[in-house]
Amino acid sequence: MLDDLNEKCAVVGVFGNDEASKMAFLALHAQQHRGQEAAGISSADGVKLHLIKNRGLVTKVFNEDDLENTLVGRSAIGHTRYSTAGDDSILDAQPVFARYNRGEMAIVHNGNLTNAAEVRADLIEKGAIFQTYMDTENLIHLIAKNKQAKLLDRIIESVKTIQGAFSLVFLSRKKMFAMRDAHGFRPLSLGKLGDGYIVASETCAFDIVGAEFIRDVEPGELLIFEDGKEPQSIKVLEPTPKHCIFEYVYFARPDSNVFGQNVYEMRKNMGKALAHEKPVEGDLVIPVPDGGVPAAIGYAQESGIPFEMGIMRNHYIGRTFIEPTQEIRDLKVKMKLSPVTSMIKGKRVIVIDDSIVRGTTSMRIIRMLKEAGAAEVHMRISSPPTTDPCYYGVDTPDKDKLIASSRTCDEICEYIGADSLSFLSNDALLKSVNSDSDKYCTACFTGEYIV
Ligand code: AMP
Repeated sequence: MLDDLNEKCAVVGVFGNDEASKMAFLALHAQQHRGQEAAGISSADGVKLHLIKNRGLVTKVFNEDDLENTLVGRSAIGHTRYSTAGDDSILDAQPVFARYNRGEMAIVHNGNLTNAAEVRADLIEKGAIFQTYMDTENLIHLIAKNKQAKLLDRIIESVKTIQGAFSLVFLSRKKMFAMRDAHGFRPLSLGKLGDGYIVASETCAFDIVGAEFIRDVEPGELLIFEDGKEPQSIKVLEPTPKHCIFEYVYFARPDSNVFGQNVYEMRKNMGKALAHEKPVEGDLVIPVPDGGVPAAIGYAQESGIPFEMGIMRNHYIGRTFIEPTQEIRDLKVKMKLSPVTSMIKGKRVIVIDDSIVRGTTSMRIIRMLKEAGAAEVHMRISSPPTTDPCYYGVDTPDKDKLIASSRTCDEICEYIGADSLSFLSNDALLKSVNSDSDKYCTACFTGEYIV
């Protein structure tokens, strides 16, 4: 069960701001695309921690009274959650909060701990009573049980016990801490917000609150925020960068800068590389909205074939992955996307999407375009075939559900009913993100896992 509950989320931390919880709320709203299942904020007023979390979108979980009267104090951390857990997932919403012998602590986590099962078994053996299935809860127990006198040392020793992907923010009554794993799998950036500071998964959160980007939290770095002081930095783990390339392919918002580069630009580069590497004759280049849009613009510009929004997206439903059963997923694709028939009729269309995971979306889209009268449908994907699951915080299904894990490109083409199908090569993907070294994790495309 533990293996099913991967976290693929957004985090935020605001320190030294009179409206800390409101800032955290806005930052979470900007990062809603990273998780729509649950949201939570914990604030600290110097004496006590306060917590509100629930299932649902950010705007549903918090009201004005919560932010004004409950989540008081000058620091706050928040989380939006993306997961496949069942009905009682409120238990697994974050922040994780605990009252222990040294006070109170709240933690938010984006990533996935690869040794969570072992650490948890060990803690349970020693008498710990777990309240949730979340890997993040391990940290609370590790910190609470640690014998060091200072909270900082407890945190340092605890993060040395865990492995995998973690961008973490900790909140105590008086301090805030931010930490990124040694590989920097997930993004985490630091910004200046008025007289205080903000950390967030994506810089689009800074833009909405008017914060100024300072720099990324470095892989393996711990930042300590204390009243009246500049953030203090400690190198806790030896940095060996392996940033998640899927952040660029699909996950992050195009207006964010992650790992030092703008996501929109990276996606456009992928589209250009795709046009160069996998050309095909056609009358129109159309994106699968919204994910495929920047790559389709790049493809159109590079190939000289006109770009058109041939598929419209209904924005009032969630992402198709959220519902776990196949029937609901199928229905949701239909609810979400519709063709602009007059534009497509009789045309040879080149459809650009960012990825094929199970193949459901592509199959539906191609059927829809053919029903709308397309003469030919050529599918071009701006990333390599997704052959392997992610253990570092992206919600990919088990290997046997990944269509590219057991089928060739031709077989997938036949399955989805396209006239032709091509993927971007891994080399071209790496070049598109200006990678001059092996600092990106491409395990979902190559099966080469570093941890
Ligand atoms: P599928 O229908 O399973 O092949 O899913 C492919 C579609 O899902 C593409 O349009 C992607 O943009 C999108 N997608 C890829 N990865 C994810 C993910 N981790 N969570 C949600 N959607 C995704």
